[in-house]
Amino acid sequence: MQPTRREFLKAGTLGGVAVSVLGFDLTPAYAQARELKIARTTETRSTCPYCSVSCGVIIHTLGDRSRNVRPTVVHVEGDADHPINQGTLCPKGITLKQNIVNDRRLTKVRYRAPGSRVWEERTWDWAIDRIARLTKETRDRRLIVKDAAGRGINALTSMGVIGGCTDTNEINYLLVKAFRAGLGVIPIEQQSRI
Ligand code: SF4
Repeated sequence: MQPTRREFLKAGTLGGVAVSVLGFDLTPAYAQARELKIARTTETRSTCPYCSVSCGVIIHTLGDRSRNVRPTVVHVEGDADHPINQGTLCPKGITLKQNIVNDRRLTKVRYRAPGSRVWEERTWDWAIDRIARLTKETRDRRLIVKDAAGRGINALTSMGVIGGCTDTNEINYLLVKAFRAGLGVIPIEQQSRI
């Protein structure tokens, strides 16, 4: 049988075609290739961080049970058991592996001082200390203890907190407890509402 060019390309690009036009049954080869890709991986359930839909994903990691082997994410797919997306991912979510395994991903703190054009590399300890210091200074200077009628309100409106779409209910509970109940911060937002 002589395939047309169109049929030939179709057979080459559709990975799931059961029987190729060339007469070979490619099903076992495709199945094996798919299976080998995730055969020895560890599955981690997570949440797509890109938007407020918060689809469930399964991240497949290779090498995290072996000594002297750096774990590598080799595959990310939709979580079929997740109630939101039931295994599906949108075109952006399906590229999530490229977000995780990416040489251009920032892994260190970059700091640009006010008025500066230069980004400086700093340590995580430096960043945490600075955030803590600025938070305290802001609260000390800006906390509104009483309203115009003299009622105690302990409100801090000059700083805000925003949570990510991967935050669980428990994390959000702690955010509200720490920042609103603890520091009086009023603007608290969540990416899932944006
Ligand atoms: S897969 Fe798409 S729709 Fe789902 S959370 Fe990610 S970006 Fe949003």
